[in-house]
Amino acid sequence: MISTRILTKLVLNGRFQLIAVFTLFLILAACTSEVEVTRQVEVTREVEVIKEVEVVKEVIVTPEAQAVAPLPETASGAAIPQDKGYLVEDLGDGLYWVTEGNYQAMFLTTGEGVIAVDAPPSIGEKYLKAIAEVTDEPVTHVIYSHSHADHIGAAGMFPSDAVYIAHEDTASQLARPNGPQRPVPFGTFVGGSPVPPPTVTFSDKYTLTVGSQTLELEYKGPNHEKGNIFIYAPKQKVLLLIDIIFPGWSPFFELAVTEDTPAFIQAHDDILSFDFDVMVTGHWDRLATRGDVEIQQEYVLDMQANAVQALKTVDFMAIAGSTGFENRMLLFGTYLDAVAKECADLTIAKWGGRLGAVDLASESHCNRLMESLRID
Ligand SMILES: [Zn+2]
Repeated sequence: MISTRILTKLVLNGRFQLIAVFTLFLILAACTSEVEVTRQVEVTREVEVIKEVEVVKEVIVTPEAQAVAPLPETASGAAIPQDKGYLVEDLGDGLYWVTEGNYQAMFLTTGEGVIAVDAPPSIGEKYLKAIAEVTDEPVTHVIYSHSHADHIGAAGMFPSDAVYIAHEDTASQLARPNGPQRPVPFGTFVGGSPVPPPTVTFSDKYTLTVGSQTLELEYKGPNHEKGNIFIYAPKQKVLLLIDIIFPGWSPFFELAVTEDTPAFIQAHDDILSFDFDVMVTGHWDRLATRGDVEIQQEYVLDMQANAVQALKTVDFMAIAGSTGFENRMLLFGTYLDAVAKECADLTIAKWGGRLGAVDLASESHCNRLMESLRID
């Protein structure tokens, strides 16, 4: 029971961090639209409003923010054309990836219509502009990589008569009605909205061929959440799997809020079993190589070993000597925090400077790994 409560606390902490980052994305999006407003205002010479927007855009870096480790070269990605607000790049044979710098999606031209994979609200209608930049074909097929609204919550912009394809677990999660478990409509806090339900679902494998293109869809288990699928373009040797690999960076907090830590770790071997050259990972501003996957695997396995080490060495009874036994939550909370901190200290000593934000994210990963070692 105590473990469950502490786990819940950790999960909630992860959600708060997620909310904080998503809120940042929304603020960035709002700033972008404010820039557009500013241009209009300049035309109408409403100078007072322009000054107000300039105040909003001012960034004051606090000493705490300045104290974090500098980002290594591995963490830098492609330049996003500021006039468009997105980058679209040809991956060969009609396959493209698109990003606004924080999220990624991909699409294929087939000669008979476009297959769009995912629809992040942070990219939104810029995705439609990216498609129109390279083809006149309409979107005829939409694939959901998984059910999370931050990756598919803009799918309502695609034609309602398109074919919508997803894993059966994604379909069942999207079918949850609003109510106590979903007190606000799907996508509300990530800038999205309810999406068309999948019209085609599968359980293990599904091959989609449209015109000249083929995508192989495969489910290998709940590595990030139930229903998260591998999407492989064999002709282009490109793999898409979302929310597992963060090329050049430590993964997003709490192992990217995985629902299954052992499966998250296994996913690295699953990824490397595909014959791919580059991978669309869903986040940040560059694609992943096989080398990125291997480095992240080494980092995660190192952290797991450090969590084992910390569980063996942090002295529970010594901590009880300082907290007493009466307040169990104080005792267990202090102990688990000490284990996670020891694991993080060992990790940061080796990995600081090799991946972005190791100093910020490792303790949350250690929490997840430690809890998994204790109870999975
Ligand atoms: Zn996700």
